[in-house]
Amino acid sequence: MGYGKKIYEEARGQLELSRRKAEELAASQTEAFYQKCPEARKVKEEMGANAARAAKAVLHGGNVRAEIEKLRDRGLALQAEYESLLARHGYTPGDLQPRYACPLCQDTGVVDGRMCACLKQLQRAMAYESLSMNAPLEKSTFESFSLDYYRDDPRALHQMQNVLEACQRYAANFRSDSPSLLFKGATGLGKTHLSLAIAGKVLEKGYGVLYGSAQTFAVALERERFDRPDPDTPTDANSQLMSCDLLILDDLGTEFPSQYVNAALYHVVNSRLLAAKPTLISTNLNMQELENRYSDRFASRLAGFYGMLEFIGHDVRIEKRRRPRPQ
Ligand SMILES: [Zn+2]
Repeated sequence: MGYGKKIYEEARGQLELSRRKAEELAASQTEAFYQKCPEARKVKEEMGANAARAAKAVLHGGNVRAEIEKLRDRGLALQAEYESLLARHGYTPGDLQPRYACPLCQDTGVVDGRMCACLKQLQRAMAYESLSMNAPLEKSTFESFSLDYYRDDPRALHQMQNVLEACQRYAANFRSDSPSLLFKGATGLGKTHLSLAIAGKVLEKGYGVLYGSAQTFAVALERERFDRPDPDTPTDANSQLMSCDLLILDDLGTEFPSQYVNAALYHVVNSRLLAAKPTLISTNLNMQELENRYSDRFASRLAGFYGMLEFIGHDVRIEKRRRPRPQ
């Protein structure tokens, strides 16, 4: 599941915090119990000593069965005594145990050597949150995509209906090896809206999505180029661009032109194709313009390997100002 290192570490940190809180709370409640019932502390200490003796006896080997059985009986008796002290003060045995958010992994994020479902869920939620902070994810859904603005133009309406359905199908059937998509068309025809609608659905399905405008990625790539201490280590932005399940590169062609960024973008697009990882690119450049601005090989990767969706019609943002949204 490719959410990137940063989200993984934040999620681990959050779980760790939750675990520590649960354990501190249990410890302070236990201490409060001991204050009321000092006898319980003594019994608990004796339980510990008894368990240590039992462990030692096992390590010694030889004929220690009788000794171990005696220690086990003693352990059970101490346990029963402790529980009766708890009951006398109105506690059940579970009351003073740490209450973990996830009983399955006890907030460690690992169960049977594998990543626990709670850690996956946490990363998903964080990815959604960080994406929502940068983009109006909740507003840009399939449901809020209006075809009303195309009503006057039957050709555009028909085309945009097809585009909308193709995007819905793509999101519904998304897998980590889904094909890549190219959204082409002038500004203001809903490319960003439908990119975000796909992002929301794909995140809901539990995949890692990285969304950003070409300008945002260009800035991140350029910054790392100057910051990175060792030119051979893969950079953070680069590894995020590579590791996410779905990369959405919005508004390609609006970033500040730079040979370095062009080369980095080609590298990302090409490597993701080779790894069969989907990328969604939107642009208002046509093929010829893409070729001129980037390179033949960049344009030919998009033309040859990306599913193309053509957005047509009038600028929706102008239409929206003219006609207030029905709602
Ligand atoms: Zn868990």
